[in-house]
Amino acid sequence: MKKYQIVIIGYGGMGSYHVTLASAADNLEVRGVFDILEEKRAAAAEKGLEIYPSFEAVLADEKVDAVLIATPNDSHKELAIQALEAGKHVVCEKPVTMSSEDLLVIMDTAKKEQKHFMVHQNRRWDEDFLIIKEMMEQKTIGDVFHLESRVHGANGIPGDWRHLKAHGGGMVLDWGVHLLDQLLFVIDSNVKSVSANLSYALGDEVDDGFVSFITFENGITAQVEVGTTNFIKLPRWYVKGTEGTAIIHDWDLSGEVVKPNALAGLSEPTPIQAGQGLTKTMAPPSEEATDTIPLVAPGKLATTFYNNFVDVLNKKSEPIVQNEEVYQVLKLIEAIFQAAETNKTIHSI
Ligand code: NAD
Repeated sequence: MKKYQIVIIGYGGMGSYHVTLASAADNLEVRGVFDILEEKRAAAAEKGLEIYPSFEAVLADEKVDAVLIATPNDSHKELAIQALEAGKHVVCEKPVTMSSEDLLVIMDTAKKEQKHFMVHQNRRWDEDFLIIKEMMEQKTIGDVFHLESRVHGANGIPGDWRHLKAHGGGMVLDWGVHLLDQLLFVIDSNVKSVSANLSYALGDEVDDGFVSFITFENGITAQVEVGTTNFIKLPRWYVKGTEGTAIIHDWDLSGEVVKPNALAGLSEPTPIQAGQGLTKTMAPPSEEATDTIPLVAPGKLATTFYNNFVDVLNKKSEPIVQNEEVYQVLKLIEAIFQAAETNKTIHSI
């Protein structure tokens, strides 16, 4: 079987990680690296990787089947189009482009050149997400009607270009794209409306976090939130269903499911003292009337990202990350920006 040759474009934090990811795949070999910075090329050479002197030299090498683009967000479109037009397949980092229109141009080019273009939406493989996906499919907490998906950090916006609008910086594009991609992947319904607030607490020209509220046509609602100024973090997932509630605290997969059991509703809750008043409504459910159970095991996707890429090249499989899905995520991101800017709920997505 053919061993495809891929070259990594951009040897920064993610590009160097892709060397490991791509090398682990069957029938795929990292042929070399190109980075515009001499120091990055030197770092790659130190790891024993072949260095290309220019992007043009990568494209001119007939032995190269594909490139992986891991450069700042604003450069993805041009690099992808050049590579496709030079007859290479392309894997591109997220966010694939700065606008949904730009992605359409890439998709058209890929179609014209009959080359494959796939976006590295790797967090579809995250186990915390795959637990939520599995719970929704198994109906562990009945029909899920509300999801809260958050990532909270306290280190501000990292690096250099992520602070700049021109490079596609900001947290909606950086982390939002992952959480929104997961959401659309797991909910089989169109988005009905979106409202959002962006945070500029750190004084950057780009958002350092955001909160968005999304309603789907099937009635499911979701709150998606990214924060970089959270010294106390909220749970990664909080999900409500018709038969219980689930929480996943973090990427360590700690969490639990609490469900009402057969004794639920048989006795009135006992009122509790709450601040300066009494409440029955907010009293905790009685221990006998609820079951606390472990989270389900994460579901599995058919294969890894790069094995899927090779299968797609060999026409043995459809891409797990479809470009049309990535396009819908970009449309949702655009709606989030529009909602925040206009302070209005957006209905046409
Ligand atoms: P980085 O700044 O660490 O690395 C970017 C590298 O690209 C730098 O070494 C830079 O010199 C190089 N570069 C810039 N322009 C170039 C060009 N035209 N040709 C060749 N090299 C060029 O950034 P990063 O954190 O590695 O992010 C890179 C991309 O990967 C971004 O799109 C980012 O969103 C994405 N990313 C994805 C994940 C994920 O989990 N999927 C995680 C981190 C970053």
